[in-house]
Amino acid sequence: MFDQIKKQDPALYDMIVSECKRQRDGIELIPSENYVSQAILEAQGSILTNKYSEGYPKKRYYGGQDNIDDIEQLAIDRAKELFGCEHVNVQPYSGSPANAAIYFALLEFGDKVMGLKLDHGGHITHGLPISFSGKAYDWIPYLVGEDGVIDMDEVERIAMETRPKMIVAGFSAYPRNLDWKRFAEICEKVGAISFADVSHVGGLIAAGVVDSPVPYFDVVMTTTHKTLRGPRSAIIMSKEKHAKAINRAIFPGMQGGPHDHTTAAKAICFEEALRPEFKEYGAQVIKNAKVLADKFNEYGYDLVSGGTDNHLLLCDLTNKGMTGQQAQVALDRAEMTLNKNTVPYEKRSPMDPSGIRFGSPAVTTRGFKEKEMEQVGDWMHQVLSNLDDEDLHHRIAGEVAELCQDFPVDGTLI
Ligand SMILES: *Cc1c(COP(=O)(O)O)cnc(C)c1O
Repeated sequence: MFDQIKKQDPALYDMIVSECKRQRDGIELIPSENYVSQAILEAQGSILTNKYSEGYPKKRYYGGQDNIDDIEQLAIDRAKELFGCEHVNVQPYSGSPANAAIYFALLEFGDKVMGLKLDHGGHITHGLPISFSGKAYDWIPYLVGEDGVIDMDEVERIAMETRPKMIVAGFSAYPRNLDWKRFAEICEKVGAISFADVSHVGGLIAAGVVDSPVPYFDVVMTTTHKTLRGPRSAIIMSKEKHAKAINRAIFPGMQGGPHDHTTAAKAICFEEALRPEFKEYGAQVIKNAKVLADKFNEYGYDLVSGGTDNHLLLCDLTNKGMTGQQAQVALDRAEMTLNKNTVPYEKRSPMDPSGIRFGSPAVTTRGFKEKEMEQVGDWMHQVLSNLDDEDLHHRIAGEVAELCQDFPVDGTLI
């Protein structure tokens, strides 16, 4: 693999090979990551990257669009079948620009928007003050309770009091399901636009193992590279009445030419997600996360909300006398990759927070089941309870690599 890069650019070749080995021989627990299929890698590496196709199928600005129109229409048709949405725009470059386009389409600058606070599980594009979203709109945060769970009565109270133009329901670090119906009812009651950002659980929704907001919400955005296991990108679904505003906000509002190689990879991703195996995948992702939750509870860790309904866990390490950063560094040495993360009511800084966030989407793709997840939980606990024993960490890294040999990852065989 990578024969031409090897000849032409040996320094870069070495870096790519090294990353291939890391992905192949280590346990990937970052809940926003996944492994794509060989077919998706091929589409992304194809000559489709050469084309410019500003506009939409049959309504383009440049010539030579017959093939691209077919590809984009295929992606649209499959996305509609997969999620049952009225309208979909498959051109967003990624989740953050998709969110910017949604706000740009449906709000005026300065409008009031409600979103889950960042250190309570929200995303930077949901109103972090230094982000575009935070500067352009007037954000009213809602929080999780002391139990780590969103209190919908509280969401309703804040919405009634502040009358936002839009309510964003969605998260990057929240281990529980959202009550879509209730969110939509609250939006209805206060006259707010309902926007579900399902970036993290898009794949679980496609698999039918987590409820879908699509029937209830005005707009739903999902990234395609997280649990949905496609290329690094996003799609915006909406009711027909918002279709025109969303399309215009993507092009020419926010973006120029769509990334046609990525659109093709999304079409493949949606076909893969329509298969019966993908339902099994989604169910196994949740089962695997629950095994980790049981292990962590057994070992006395403080899981935010006590466990998980989805693919991710958030663990406050304060009671174990360590920080998220210390845990991340030690686990990195043992080739188990996760991220340090703030926890609700965080007392430390975002660069050195109290918790860790981890989950099961990537390891489930490579075939881990309950038995392997128990092993992962035990290894994690061994590392975390011997934080300074680097020899132990390296020994575990060896065992991790050995287990990983039996669970290959597409595209990493050099
Ligand atoms: C990941 C994520 C995004 C942004 O996606 P990028 O592709 O990283 O820009 C937006 N919203 C939520 C809730 C996310 O988890």
